[in-house]
Amino acid sequence: MAYDLTTRQISEQERMDLSFTPDQEALREAAARLYAKESHGERVRELEPDGFDPALWSAVVDMGLPTMALPEADGGAGASLTDLAAAVEVHGAHLGLVPLVETAVAARLLAAVGAAGPLARLAEGARASLRVTEAPGAAPVAFAAVADLVVTIDGDRVLVHDGPCGTPRATLAGLAVAAVDPAPDGAEEVAAGPAVGAAVDRARDEWRALTAVAQAGLARATLDLGVAYAKDRHQFGVPIASFQALQHRFADLHARVDAARLLAYEAVWALDEDDPTGPLRAAQAGWWCGEVAEEAAGFSLHVHGGYGFMLEYDVQLHVRRAKAARLLLGDPRRELPRIAERRWGDGAPTTEEVTAAATARPTRAGMDFRFAPETEQFRAEVRAFIAEHLTSEIVERAFATGTMHDWGFHQALCERGYLASGWPTEVGGLGRDAIDQTLLMQELYAAEAPIDGLNIASMVGATLLVCGTDEQKQDVLPRILAGEVMCCLGYSEPDAGSDVAAVATRAVRDGDDWVIDGQKMFTTMAHEAHYVFLLARTDPEAPKHKGLTMFLVPMDTPGIEITPVATMGGERTNITFYDGVRVPDRHRVGEPGAGWSVMHAALVYERNSANWGEPDALVEGVARWARQPGPDGTRPFDYLRVQEALARWTTELEAGRLLLLRAAWLSARGEMPQVEGSMAKLQITEAFVRAASDLLDVLGPHGLVRLGDPAAVADGLVEHAFRHAVVTTIYGGSSEVQREIIAGRGLGLPRQR
Ligand SMILES: Cc1cc2nc3c(=O)[nH]c(=O)nc-3n(C[C@H](O)[C@H](O)[C@H](O)COP(=O)(O)OP(=O)(O)OC[C@H]3O[C@@H](n4cnc5c(N)ncnc54)[C@H](O)[C@@H]3O)c2cc1C
Repeated sequence: MAYDLTTRQISEQERMDLSFTPDQEALREAAARLYAKESHGERVRELEPDGFDPALWSAVVDMGLPTMALPEADGGAGASLTDLAAAVEVHGAHLGLVPLVETAVAARLLAAVGAAGPLARLAEGARASLRVTEAPGAAPVAFAAVADLVVTIDGDRVLVHDGPCGTPRATLAGLAVAAVDPAPDGAEEVAAGPAVGAAVDRARDEWRALTAVAQAGLARATLDLGVAYAKDRHQFGVPIASFQALQHRFADLHARVDAARLLAYEAVWALDEDDPTGPLRAAQAGWWCGEVAEEAAGFSLHVHGGYGFMLEYDVQLHVRRAKAARLLLGDPRRELPRIAERRWGDGAPTTEEVTAAATARPTRAGMDFRFAPETEQFRAEVRAFIAEHLTSEIVERAFATGTMHDWGFHQALCERGYLASGWPTEVGGLGRDAIDQTLLMQELYAAEAPIDGLNIASMVGATLLVCGTDEQKQDVLPRILAGEVMCCLGYSEPDAGSDVAAVATRAVRDGDDWVIDGQKMFTTMAHEAHYVFLLARTDPEAPKHKGLTMFLVPMDTPGIEITPVATMGGERTNITFYDGVRVPDRHRVGEPGAGWSVMHAALVYERNSANWGEPDALVEGVARWARQPGPDGTRPFDYLRVQEALARWTTELEAGRLLLLRAAWLSARGEMPQVEGSMAKLQITEAFVRAASDLLDVLGPHGLVRLGDPAAVADGLVEHAFRHAVVTTIYGGSSEVQREIIAGRGLGLPRQR
């Protein structure tokens, strides 16, 4: 069975709206129509050995794509890289066999260095090949075998060769490759000197960013192929897409491919804006999108079983192209030290600049990765609040006791209104949108503020607001808002974890009272709380999800017992026992039997809970440590291994941050993101676990010294993170639960076998 690229819908783009302008949207649609007609699987397979598609080239020239991002004075349309990217993404998805990115970047380079002659030829429809690699000697260059102009870079010289050059080579993925020297025989020097260096660096970054966009398009297309095939293909009497082993891998990739698109657009946007993060983002996007395109294509091939290897199937084209496209620059791992240098080396942008970005805001025209000024102002206020109220004693006490709550700090947060930052002002909230709420939480997490209590109180308060009785709203809610009353969550039980609806704790009606018997596991904050928000089974005969009722039980009710539980990460939690606990009916929240929907009611006001701040603080903390010179004067940062690890994890977390902000952005414009929040949590927490382990390896035996010991390296951050990170992939819905949501709701995969 061959899967035809022409049938591919780009509907994913609508769901992941990145605030294209109407013009960008129109361009993307026009490019999609053109490529569906001119660059489908059959055509690519047929022409791949030649490596070039003349008809497609004529069509893209007719559309003006290769030179649209040149100034009008140079024969272009004055378009931005972001405009061009809208078409390049489609080009990548359809494996276009034309030098679109190469010609666009070469043209901008020639314009930047004032090479009017060759530039005029490109403006008239000539095609260029661009030698981007810094490798010495003859190196494979895409489309050099068919180009009208081959542009090369030799140190700080730019040269142009008229017509194809180099030795044509059959390659892994066609692309009309020829092996070209940095200064080929017969090439003319069109610019030279130190000033050219900046233009050349910029050109390489534009190539990185646009190739990243193309790779993001490829990655999405190849994942679509794999998903479609898996839904179609039956084994053991069921679609193979129903196997959990495949679903979970698809779910991981769905998140990583979405992140690829966000990173790629962030990079082109940053270059367009001359944002100080542009070079960093270009390198990150280049590395991530190449990596993810390879992963997605490799997995899609695997899902095709033996058939994927047959040349008549498209998926093998994706595998070869994904690999080949990134190798044109050189060994992809070489990009990692570049990322580290651009993030933390001399002249790197400040931390403020690096984090001053959000996904496109709905209020502004087009894509804009900056926060709105009022959001920046809110963030500054939050930072000032943290500086004023969060002392090192509070943080140290929380780590030492494992109780991630401090009454004084909690009350200060409440006084400032932060407990209800997202609630409407009419009900006592600050009316902040989801982006502001996300920033508030990330600032608190990054500062290691102990906010378990804040999270739980906020969630219970929001539920009472939606489902509570008038009495609960008048009595308990104001005290929660004032920071006087604390709650804990009584959901989990010995036999009810991920499957919360399986709770067995019983509540039996007795006159005006309910009598509760049972046991709850992991009742964090129970030892500080005034109330437990407790899910109990009130009707054992009803279907599992319908026999549950929620209660707000005062913790001083006779019959409640608390046993502390110490954990690997240092957090204290508890087991709570309920033995004939008698509460009046007024402690019920919601109708009898409605416990399941009450449990989810708080989602209306819930901020996205994925915690990016903590893992980011880990990576930044290690980077700080790595830049301090040791006794022998060398810095850990000078070692390749350290740079690679830091670069990898800062990029994984940038992917997570953009996914998190995308979910917030969707909420801010009135949508209820479900899959997007799961993607963010999955990406961030899984990266946190792997980062903690890898960075501990980097520290070696010195890293084993525990947090709290004065000899601990990097303040014991890594040692603690290694113990703590794992739990973030369990609570709040484990990674497997998130994958189920993403696979089912996000990719429409069938019920599992
Ligand atoms: C420090 C800490 C604090 C906590 N605080 C609270 C709290 O305050 N209140 C509260 O009610 N609970 C709390 N929890 C409990 C937490 O919500 C549960 O641990 C979580 O829901 C997972 O349940 P479980 O531990 O029983 O694991 P299980 O559900 O038994 O899961 C075990 C493993 O099986 C996997 N698994 C489960 N279902 C599937 C599936 N369908 N497909 C594939 N794999 C699956 C899981 O991903 C996991 O890897 C806390 C837990 C910890 C560790």
